[in-house]
Amino acid sequence: MPELPEIEVLCKSINRSLKGIPVEGIIVKQPKCTNLTQREWNRLLREASILKSYPHGKWAINLTDNEHLLLLNLGMGCSLLLVPQEKLEEKKYQFAFLFENGKALRFSFWWFGNVHLVRERKFKEYALTSKLGPHAYGRDFTVKRFKSLLQGRKGAIKQFLLNQKNIAGIGNAYIHDILFLAKLHPFRAIPTLREREIEALHKAIVDIFSKSIKLGGAFWEYNIYGRKGRYDAGCLLIGYREGKPCPACATSVEKIKTGSTTGFICPRCQKLK
Ligand SMILES: [Zn+2]
Repeated sequence: MPELPEIEVLCKSINRSLKGIPVEGIIVKQPKCTNLTQREWNRLLREASILKSYPHGKWAINLTDNEHLLLLNLGMGCSLLLVPQEKLEEKKYQFAFLFENGKALRFSFWWFGNVHLVRERKFKEYALTSKLGPHAYGRDFTVKRFKSLLQGRKGAIKQFLLNQKNIAGIGNAYIHDILFLAKLHPFRAIPTLREREIEALHKAIVDIFSKSIKLGGAFWEYNIYGRKGRYDAGCLLIGYREGKPCPACATSVEKIKTGSTTGFICPRCQKLK
Protein backbone atom coordinates (compact mmCIF):
# COMPACT_ATOMS: atom_id res chain seq x y z
CA MET A 1 0.00 0.00 0.00
CA PRO A 2 1.48 3.37 -0.96
CA GLU A 3 2.78 5.49 1.91
CA LEU A 4 4.07 9.04 2.04
CA PRO A 5 7.03 8.67 -0.38
CA GLU A 6 4.92 6.99 -3.07
CA ILE A 7 2.24 9.67 -2.74
CA GLU A 8 4.89 12.41 -3.03
CA VAL A 9 6.08 10.72 -6.23
CA LEU A 10 2.51 10.39 -7.52
CA CYS A 11 1.82 14.12 -7.01
CA LYS A 12 5.03 15.03 -8.83
CA SER A 13 3.96 12.81 -11.75
CA ILE A 14 0.49 14.37 -11.88
CA ASN A 15 2.06 17.85 -11.87
CA ARG A 16 4.44 16.81 -14.63
CA SER A 17 2.02 14.98 -16.91
CA LEU A 18 -1.55 16.11 -16.24
CA LYS A 19 -1.46 19.66 -14.91
CA GLY A 20 -3.51 22.04 -17.06
CA ILE A 21 -4.89 19.35 -19.37
CA PRO A 22 -8.71 19.50 -19.56
CA VAL A 23 -10.73 16.47 -18.48
CA GLU A 24 -12.77 15.05 -21.32
CA GLY A 25 -14.83 12.57 -19.35
CA ILE A 26 -15.03 10.29 -16.33
CA ILE A 27 -15.95 6.62 -16.25
CA VAL A 28 -17.24 5.13 -12.99
CA LYS A 29 -17.46 1.35 -13.07
CA GLN A 30 -17.43 0.73 -9.31
CA PRO A 31 -19.58 3.30 -7.45
CA LYS A 32 -18.27 2.12 -4.04
CA CYS A 33 -14.88 3.78 -4.58
CA THR A 34 -16.32 7.24 -5.12
CA ASN A 35 -18.71 9.79 -3.58
CA LEU A 36 -20.41 10.86 -6.84
CA THR A 37 -22.23 9.23 -9.71
CA GLN A 38 -20.73 9.17 -13.19
CA ARG A 39 -23.21 11.87 -14.23
CA GLU A 40 -22.20 14.14 -11.30
CA TRP A 41 -18.52 13.60 -11.97
CA ASN A 42 -18.96 14.62 -15.58
CA ARG A 43 -21.09 17.63 -14.71
CA LEU A 44 -18.54 18.91 -12.17
CA LEU A 45 -15.25 18.04 -13.77
CA ARG A 46 -15.64 17.89 -17.53
CA GLU A 47 -13.47 20.58 -19.14
CA ALA A 48 -11.86 21.40 -15.79
CA SER A 49 -8.19 20.72 -15.23
CA ILE A 50 -5.77 20.14 -12.37
CA LEU A 51 -3.92 23.26 -11.18
CA LYS A 52 -1.65 21.47 -8.72
CA SER A 53 -1.26 18.17 -6.96
CA TYR A 54 0.12 17.90 -3.43
CA PRO A 55 0.40 15.12 -0.85
CA HIS A 56 -1.15 14.93 2.59
CA GLY A 57 -0.12 11.72 4.29
CA LYS A 58 -1.35 8.83 2.18
CA TRP A 59 -3.68 11.09 0.15
CA ALA A 60 -2.95 12.89 -3.11
CA ILE A 61 -4.89 16.15 -3.18
CA ASN A 62 -5.50 17.78 -6.54
CA LEU A 63 -6.80 21.31 -6.81
CA THR A 64 -8.84 21.93 -9.96
CA ASP A 65 -9.34 25.21 -11.80
CA ASN A 66 -13.03 25.22 -10.78
CA GLU A 67 -12.43 25.20 -7.02
CA HIS A 68 -12.75 21.52 -6.37
CA LEU A 69 -10.38 19.09 -4.74
CA LEU A 70 -9.93 15.72 -6.27
CA LEU A 71 -8.90 13.39 -3.43
CA LEU A 72 -7.09 10.15 -4.17
CA ASN A 73 -6.34 7.44 -1.66
CA LEU A 74 -4.86 4.28 -3.08
CA GLY A 75 -5.47 1.09 -1.19
CA MET A 76 -3.57 -2.15 -1.17
CA GLY A 77 -2.59 -3.42 -4.60
CA CYS A 78 -4.14 -0.47 -6.40
CA SER A 79 -2.77 0.12 -9.84
CA LEU A 80 -2.98 3.66 -11.11
CA LEU A 81 -1.70 3.99 -14.65
CA LEU A 82 -1.54 6.69 -17.26
CA VAL A 83 -2.36 4.96 -20.54
CA PRO A 84 -3.35 5.97 -24.06
CA GLN A 85 -7.16 5.95 -24.21
CA GLU A 86 -7.15 3.21 -26.82
CA LYS A 87 -5.44 0.93 -24.27
CA LEU A 88 -7.89 1.72 -21.44
CA GLU A 89 -9.86 -1.50 -21.75
CA GLU A 90 -6.76 -3.73 -21.73
CA LYS A 91 -7.19 -4.27 -17.99
CA LYS A 92 -10.17 -4.46 -15.64
CA TYR A 93 -10.66 -1.15 -13.86
CA GLN A 94 -13.06 0.63 -11.50
CA PHE A 95 -12.58 4.26 -12.40
CA ALA A 96 -10.96 6.35 -15.14
CA PHE A 97 -10.34 9.96 -16.05
CA LEU A 98 -10.08 10.71 -19.76
CA PHE A 99 -8.01 13.73 -20.77
CA GLU A 100 -8.14 15.86 -23.90
CA ASN A 101 -4.58 14.90 -24.84
CA GLY A 102 -5.72 11.33 -25.54
CA LYS A 103 -4.47 9.92 -22.23
CA ALA A 104 -6.48 8.16 -19.51
CA LEU A 105 -5.72 7.76 -15.82
CA ARG A 106 -6.97 4.29 -14.97
CA PHE A 107 -7.65 3.03 -11.42
CA SER A 108 -7.71 -0.69 -10.75
CA PHE A 109 -8.38 -1.36 -7.08
CA TRP A 110 -7.55 -4.72 -5.67
CA TRP A 111 -8.71 -4.12 -2.12
CA PHE A 112 -10.02 -0.62 -1.50
CA GLY A 113 -9.34 2.94 -2.52
CA ASN A 114 -11.06 6.28 -2.83
CA VAL A 115 -11.53 8.73 -5.66
CA HIS A 116 -13.54 11.59 -4.21
CA LEU A 117 -14.41 15.10 -5.30
CA VAL A 118 -15.22 17.88 -2.83
CA ARG A 119 -15.63 21.63 -3.04
CA GLU A 120 -12.43 23.34 -1.96
CA ARG A 121 -14.22 25.30 0.77
CA LYS A 122 -15.80 22.10 2.16
CA PHE A 123 -12.45 20.34 2.55
CA LYS A 124 -12.10 21.03 6.28
CA GLU A 125 -15.46 19.40 6.99
CA TYR A 126 -14.80 16.39 4.82
CA ALA A 127 -14.86 13.27 7.01
CA LEU A 128 -12.17 11.22 5.28
CA THR A 129 -9.47 13.89 5.41
CA SER A 130 -10.48 16.40 8.10
CA LYS A 131 -9.05 14.35 10.97
CA LEU A 132 -5.63 13.77 9.43
CA GLY A 133 -2.62 14.93 11.41
CA PRO A 134 0.07 17.04 9.73
CA HIS A 135 1.94 15.67 6.71
CA ALA A 136 5.11 13.97 7.96
CA TYR A 137 7.44 15.63 5.45
CA GLY A 138 8.32 18.94 3.88
CA ARG A 139 8.92 22.51 4.97
CA ASP A 140 6.20 22.56 7.65
CA PHE A 141 7.30 19.32 9.27
CA THR A 142 9.91 20.85 11.55
CA VAL A 143 11.42 19.27 14.64
CA LYS A 144 9.61 21.93 16.69
CA ARG A 145 6.29 20.90 15.18
CA PHE A 146 7.08 17.23 15.78
CA LYS A 147 7.91 17.90 19.44
CA SER A 148 4.61 19.71 19.90
CA LEU A 149 2.72 16.73 18.47
CA LEU A 150 4.27 14.46 21.10
CA GLN A 151 3.73 16.89 23.95
CA GLY A 152 1.54 15.41 26.68
CA ARG A 153 0.92 12.21 24.74
CA LYS A 154 0.93 8.79 26.36
CA GLY A 155 1.27 5.29 24.93
CA ALA A 156 3.84 3.58 22.72
CA ILE A 157 5.70 5.50 20.05
CA LYS A 158 5.02 3.03 17.22
CA GLN A 159 1.27 3.12 17.76
CA PHE A 160 1.36 6.92 17.85
CA LEU A 161 3.28 7.20 14.57
CA LEU A 162 1.00 4.79 12.70
CA ASN A 163 -2.17 6.63 13.71
CA GLN A 164 -2.93 8.97 10.79
CA LYS A 165 -4.82 11.30 13.11
CA ASN A 166 -1.59 12.10 14.95
CA ILE A 167 0.72 12.39 11.99
CA ALA A 168 -0.07 11.50 8.37
CA GLY A 169 1.95 9.37 5.99
CA ILE A 170 3.83 6.75 8.01
CA GLY A 171 2.69 3.17 7.53
CA ASN A 172 3.82 -0.40 8.04
CA ALA A 173 6.41 -0.43 5.28
CA TYR A 174 8.72 2.30 6.62
CA ILE A 175 8.02 2.33 10.37
CA HIS A 176 10.54 -0.43 11.28
CA ASP A 177 13.53 1.32 9.74
CA ILE A 178 12.44 4.72 11.09
CA LEU A 179 12.40 3.39 14.67
CA PHE A 180 15.65 1.51 14.09
CA LEU A 181 17.48 4.60 12.80
CA ALA A 182 16.30 6.49 15.90
CA LYS A 183 17.36 3.52 18.11
CA LEU A 184 13.88 3.31 19.62
CA HIS A 185 11.97 0.19 20.61
CA PRO A 186 8.41 0.19 19.19
CA PHE A 187 6.99 -0.04 22.73
CA ARG A 188 8.89 2.95 24.13
CA ALA A 189 6.40 5.11 26.03
CA ILE A 190 6.23 8.65 24.67
CA PRO A 191 6.65 10.40 28.07
CA THR A 192 10.03 8.64 28.56
CA LEU A 193 11.50 10.00 25.31
CA ARG A 194 14.40 12.39 25.78
CA GLU A 195 14.76 15.56 23.77
CA ARG A 196 17.61 14.14 21.65
CA GLU A 197 15.66 10.93 20.99
CA ILE A 198 12.75 12.92 19.60
CA GLU A 199 15.19 14.86 17.45
CA ALA A 200 16.72 11.59 16.21
CA LEU A 201 13.25 10.23 15.43
CA HIS A 202 12.34 13.33 13.42
CA LYS A 203 15.62 13.05 11.51
CA ALA A 204 14.98 9.33 10.84
CA ILE A 205 11.54 10.07 9.34
CA VAL A 206 12.94 12.83 7.12
CA ASP A 207 16.02 10.83 6.05
CA ILE A 208 14.16 7.65 5.15
CA PHE A 209 11.38 9.47 3.32
CA SER A 210 13.75 11.70 1.35
CA LYS A 211 15.83 8.72 0.29
CA SER A 212 12.75 6.86 -0.92
CA ILE A 213 11.29 9.93 -2.68
CA LYS A 214 14.62 10.47 -4.49
CA LEU A 215 14.53 6.85 -5.65
CA GLY A 216 10.95 7.13 -6.90
CA GLY A 217 9.35 5.26 -3.98
CA ALA A 218 9.30 1.62 -2.90
CA PHE A 219 10.11 -1.20 -5.30
CA TRP A 220 6.86 -3.01 -4.52
CA GLU A 221 4.81 -0.11 -5.92
CA TYR A 222 4.47 1.06 -9.53
CA ASN A 223 4.24 4.69 -10.61
CA ILE A 224 1.67 5.98 -13.12
CA TYR A 225 4.10 5.27 -15.97
CA GLY A 226 4.17 1.59 -15.00
CA ARG A 227 7.69 1.64 -13.55
CA LYS A 228 8.67 0.27 -10.13
CA GLY A 229 10.22 2.47 -7.46
CA ARG A 230 14.00 2.09 -6.93
CA TYR A 231 13.88 2.05 -3.11
CA ASP A 232 14.65 -1.65 -3.20
CA ALA A 233 15.28 -4.52 -0.75
CA GLY A 234 18.89 -3.34 -0.40
CA CYS A 235 17.61 -0.04 1.05
CA LEU A 236 15.80 -1.77 3.91
CA LEU A 237 17.81 -1.69 7.15
CA ILE A 238 15.99 -4.15 9.41
CA GLY A 239 12.38 -4.10 8.16
CA TYR A 240 11.31 -7.53 6.82
CA ARG A 241 14.83 -8.87 7.49
CA GLU A 242 14.17 -11.36 10.28
CA GLY A 243 17.30 -13.38 11.15
CA LYS A 244 19.57 -11.15 9.04
CA PRO A 245 22.40 -9.20 10.72
CA CYS A 246 21.70 -5.69 12.00
CA PRO A 247 23.62 -3.25 9.78
CA ALA A 248 24.97 -1.46 12.87
CA CYS A 249 25.98 -4.30 15.25
CA ALA A 250 25.39 -7.58 13.36
CA THR A 251 22.94 -8.95 15.97
CA SER A 252 20.12 -10.98 14.35
CA VAL A 253 17.03 -8.96 13.52
CA GLU A 254 13.97 -10.14 15.42
CA LYS A 255 10.34 -10.20 14.41
CA ILE A 256 8.02 -9.26 17.27
CA LYS A 257 4.31 -8.76 17.77
CA THR A 258 3.35 -5.11 18.29
CA GLY A 259 -0.35 -5.11 19.05
CA SER A 260 -2.19 -6.09 15.88
CA THR A 261 0.88 -5.47 13.70
CA THR A 262 4.29 -7.09 13.29
CA GLY A 263 7.50 -5.33 14.19
CA PHE A 264 11.14 -5.84 13.27
CA ILE A 265 13.85 -4.76 15.69
CA CYS A 266 17.52 -5.15 16.51
CA PRO A 267 17.29 -6.30 20.15
CA ARG A 268 20.69 -4.72 20.88
CA CYS A 269 20.29 -1.32 19.17
CA GLN A 270 16.65 -0.86 20.20
CA LYS A 271 16.56 -1.79 23.89
CA LEU A 272 13.35 -1.18 25.78
CA LYS A 273 14.60 1.03 28.61
ZN1 LIG B 1 21.94 -3.58 16.12
